[in-house]
Amino acid sequence: MASPDPLPQQEPRSNRVPARAAVLSLAAFVVPVLGAFWFPEDLADYEALLWLTALIPAFLLAYYRGWQGAATATALGMAVLAIVAAITRSLGRETPDLLPIIVVIYLGLSIAIGWLAEILHRDRDEVEDLAFTDPLTHLPNRRHVEVFLANEFAAAQRGRLLSVVLFDLDRFKEYNDTYGHEAGDEALERFGEVLIRTTRRMNLSGRLGGEEFISILAGSDAHGATIFADRVRDELAALGLGAGPLTVSAGVAEYDESIRDPKMLIAAADKALYEAKREGRNRVKTRYPEGGDDPALAEHVRAKEERSSLPPIGAGLPVLVVVEDAHTRDLLASYLQTAGFTVVRAADGASAIRALAEEPAVLITDTRISDMAPQEIIRATRSRYPLAQILVLTALQEAFTAADALQAGADRYLVKPFGMPELRAHLIDALDDRNKLLRQGDRRRELSAEGKARARSARESILAGTRALVRAVEARDPYTAGSAGRVASYAETLAEHIDPEETLLPRERLRLGCELHDVGKIGVPDGVLNKEGPLDTLELAEMRKHPRIGRSILEPIIDDPLVLAITSWHHENWDGTGYPDALRGQAIPLAARVVAVADALNAITRPRAWRAARSWDDALDIVEQGSGTTFDPRVVEAALATADRLRRAGASE
Ligand code: GH3
Ligand code: MG
Ligand code: MG
Repeated sequence: MASPDPLPQQEPRSNRVPARAAVLSLAAFVVPVLGAFWFPEDLADYEALLWLTALIPAFLLAYYRGWQGAATATALGMAVLAIVAAITRSLGRETPDLLPIIVVIYLGLSIAIGWLAEILHRDRDEVEDLAFTDPLTHLPNRRHVEVFLANEFAAAQRGRLLSVVLFDLDRFKEYNDTYGHEAGDEALERFGEVLIRTTRRMNLSGRLGGEEFISILAGSDAHGATIFADRVRDELAALGLGAGPLTVSAGVAEYDESIRDPKMLIAAADKALYEAKREGRNRVKTRYPEGGDDPALAEHVRAKEERSSLPPIGAGLPVLVVVEDAHTRDLLASYLQTAGFTVVRAADGASAIRALAEEPAVLITDTRISDMAPQEIIRATRSRYPLAQILVLTALQEAFTAADALQAGADRYLVKPFGMPELRAHLIDALDDRNKLLRQGDRRRELSAEGKARARSARESILAGTRALVRAVEARDPYTAGSAGRVASYAETLAEHIDPEETLLPRERLRLGCELHDVGKIGVPDGVLNKEGPLDTLELAEMRKHPRIGRSILEPIIDDPLVLAITSWHHENWDGTGYPDALRGQAIPLAARVVAVADALNAITRPRAWRAARSWDDALDIVEQGSGTTFDPRVVEAALATADRLRRAGASE
């Protein structure tokens, strides 16, 4: 708060009586004592006058020590009177007749002087306060500011951060001319209130004069001061002044070693203020400390300046915003809408997955989603829409880090709290990347027939190599021989029931995915792969690596997300208990959910070394029992509905 309290630097009123005043007081007391002692007769008639000198100490003490001083003076005076009386009596003289009257007068005068002194002191305090406060805005005035700044400047030279902000209302002369001087005064007052509201206790904002104000921010660097100045500017804009709108320009400067005195610091801020005025007013300009360039700050300032004239970047593209907190979600959505995007909002993971039925150009997801791990949402998006740009909102102290986000497939992240300019910058980059990908896709499509043929034959030979790998796996594990083909037939049968139009599950790609889905088993040790009997914990862990290994084998050679999804996630369970990523529900790509059932049917109906093959009825029973836990209920339903065809498909492979 800008404190209109007395100056912190102001000395408390001195209570010490200066030596000269003390000597003078003593002398004044001595005069009547000596007088009574040496010239009693000569002075008898003038004794009362002589005693007036005793008022000097009373006055001085009262002046310097207020009521206390008056009381002391009275006590001293009485003591002196008593001494004088004792002396005169010991000398055998009569005490003067006037003594009682002298005492009364003396007491009365002491009290009056004390009272006057109190009033004087109180007035002096008030005058001092007035001298440090601007009467219109009640803000500290220039003198106050100067004293405060001098102190803070000394602290800055000892290494503390210090920034100043100069504010100057824009075209205030015009404002006065248009709305009248009173409206002008009112605006100054309201701006003063804004400053008092926004200034923190340890800092000080004051009025330098006219429509010029200053904030001295102790412990703030230029970045913090710029944000402060922007807030003041925003608050003024939001005031809704009765007469008419008013804006302010500000110049920010941070102390550094090249700045030798407070005046230089203010001059630096003034230069920045001048820049702000020159560039069109209603903005904050910052002078950076020597050598300490702050790109984040520069970006902040630049983006802020641009904000009013932001060209839309979204071009109507859909953005999916997954944020639980309604306030943040709405804020983001409204910003994105002004930036030209079509916004789809999701408050939880489940609705996010539902919303993924439509392809978003950009996914913006928070990492704090209670019903789903963030990587599920990321993977669900990535697996369906390779072109979608994924932007994750992380916080430094959260368990799910930016690195996790990138690992899960996010393209970029923003650390909370972030400003809209940062978000905008990321969106521009994201759309850029997306356009590049789109162009690459176009170029690929534009390849000549010859190029296409060449590409196809290259693809064929890569596929042949990959199939050889799959055969190598089957060679090591004779019981799985022919599995790939059977799993593919089952999956196709299920797909025909679920997606007859082939929009979600194109058969050719599904078949390829099934064929290659266990290729990662090439990386599983023989002892584990061929073990006759159930696997122990360690062996199980080895076995469970095969989807990841499979993905890492296929990723560089196959760019089909469907095939990769099948390889990666055919061991995920509907309830999130599967591996390798513990994806849950709809977050598992549909193709992988289909293959999970197909794979299970194949495994159950084939003989293993340690057990005989089980019947189709058993297999369907087991799958049905796993509905909603291990398997997607929709796929299980398809299996039950197509039981006969599945059986035939198995027999013919
Ligand atoms: P710029 O954007 O360049 O700062 O333009 P400006 O008109 O604000 O600049 P200039 O410094 O020329 O004008 C300042 C005006 O502020 C002149 C004066 O009329 C007005 N002003 C100064 N003190 C007071 C005041 O206490 N009350 C009122 N109502 N107006 C004041
Ligand atoms: Mg001015
Ligand atoms: Mg002005």
